[in-house]
Amino acid sequence: MSNPRSGRFEDVVIGSGAGGAVIAARLAEAGRSVVLLEEGPRVGRADFNQREGAMYSLLYRDAGGQATADGAISVMQGRCLGGSTTINMGDVVPMETAVLQHWRHHFGWSDWGGITDDDVHRAAQRAKTDIGASRITDAEVNTNNGLLRDGAKKLGIAGQPLEHNRTGCVGSGYCLIGCAYDAKKGTHLSYVPRFEAAGGEVWCDARVDRVEHGAAGVVVSGVAVRVEAERVFVCAGTIHTPGILERSGLGGGQVGRNLSLQPQGPVLAVFPHKVDLHRGIPQSFGVDGPLEVSVERGLGGFTIEGVAGGPAMTASLVPLPMRELKPLLGLYRQSAAALCLVPDRPSGRVVWSKGRPKIHYAPTAEYTARLREALKMGARCYLEAGASAVRIPVVHGKEIRSEKDIASIDDLPLRSCDLSMISAHPQGTCRMGPDGAVGMDFKLKGTDNVYVCDASLFPTTSSTHTMVPVMTMAHLLAGQLGA
Ligand SMILES: Cc1cc2nc3c(=O)[nH]c(=O)nc-3n(C[C@H](O)[C@H](O)[C@H](O)COP(=O)(O)OP(=O)(O)OC[C@H]3O[C@@H](n4cnc5c(N)ncnc54)[C@H](O)[C@@H]3O)c2cc1C
Ligand code: SF4
Repeated sequence: MSNPRSGRFEDVVIGSGAGGAVIAARLAEAGRSVVLLEEGPRVGRADFNQREGAMYSLLYRDAGGQATADGAISVMQGRCLGGSTTINMGDVVPMETAVLQHWRHHFGWSDWGGITDDDVHRAAQRAKTDIGASRITDAEVNTNNGLLRDGAKKLGIAGQPLEHNRTGCVGSGYCLIGCAYDAKKGTHLSYVPRFEAAGGEVWCDARVDRVEHGAAGVVVSGVAVRVEAERVFVCAGTIHTPGILERSGLGGGQVGRNLSLQPQGPVLAVFPHKVDLHRGIPQSFGVDGPLEVSVERGLGGFTIEGVAGGPAMTASLVPLPMRELKPLLGLYRQSAAALCLVPDRPSGRVVWSKGRPKIHYAPTAEYTARLREALKMGARCYLEAGASAVRIPVVHGKEIRSEKDIASIDDLPLRSCDLSMISAHPQGTCRMGPDGAVGMDFKLKGTDNVYVCDASLFPTTSSTHTMVPVMTMAHLLAGQLGA
């Protein structure tokens, strides 16, 4: 346990991820005295030892074990300096204008303090510049993603390399357990250094339990920390921001509601040659699903992206009995994998009880129908690319060896408890807008000095990848505050 720390600052920011680090840096650079409280440890390249067992414990919430209440969907989040940006895949996908328009028309965002769509795009551009965003080159697309690309091309399906925030990447493939080469510019390497250079203080191993607020300011307290400040910015992420607010008796009945998990379903394939999916940039190519975006519906359709996890993560996501799992893992170096990324509608809720989150989520039938189409397209791409077998990791799922087997996907049970799914993009438990917990000025309703700024703000899913959308919101908030 770290020594007790206490102090008085103008602003206190809770959480050092995509929302917290950006708002903290902007406030400090504007001359405010700011402390950034992070529950997880201070980490950097020297800590990232490329060993799955040690790194999930060090860097992930619940050592990577956070999941929905029914255990069906793994809900991944970072718990370390940089939050989820330290362990994410580095893909850069800003919000589309039609998504903003969807919120303006259907979620009361029309009057947003004069913020225009152009302002949002400028804020996204600023975030992209700050994290060194660029397009992955064709040469950097690894074998795993290349097979998906080649299969899609043969089927006449378009796709493109993704944008990312890597500079000087050596293609080691360890992005999910911390980049030991300082190539992936999470907030621990981009905004946190700027924050500290501007005089901000970072206190790690500082879990916040409660926020008390009054006309004179706020008191933020937790494990061995107590901070008095004029304002607090709660940026603990979609699952844990509601916990802080509920423990503090803040926010009312809307806190925790309207959860989107945007779960992703895997397609596995085995090739007659080595793929070594764990080498190179793990997620570099996106196949157009088709992804749909409209003012009426927001984000829909689906996209498919190559993906790689180490053997431990891969094994944990394949719900097969040992007699089936073992031979499959024996073919790890010949295996390819992709995730079907299917934007959902909010259909969940986070409830905090006895200091723990219960994440309730049931995918809608409409979501499941799109997921099924995505799995079929993923299977077709791999077969076209020469896979000897494709597997959708469902208990009792059949091996798919040819086009005629693909129809079997229509019969697969696809409840989230059947298929092993992950959520890396939870959003929406403190929805911003007239019917949500947070006002259009980012203030928690009923307060004048408690701001929320993380992925919990979005009314529906903001993007297929949520890091830059969250950073964009933080820049917009900074602008509203004159920072
Ligand atoms: C495995 C993975 C891969 C991903 N890949 C991509 C990708 O390629 N592209 C993309 O755009 N997005 C990706 N994402 C999503 C993206 O990283 C997140 O959407 C984004 O980081 C969310 O920002 P946030 O500020 O809401 O929360 P986070 O970045 O998760 O930060 C929240 C921080 O708050 C801290 N915290 C929580 N509770 C407390 C407390 N009580 N006291 C103090 N601190 C607390 C946490 O420890 C954490 O550091 C990925 C996420 C994961 C997990
Ligand atoms: S693939 Fe690139 S960004 Fe990822 S861990 Fe290796 S060097 Fe870092």
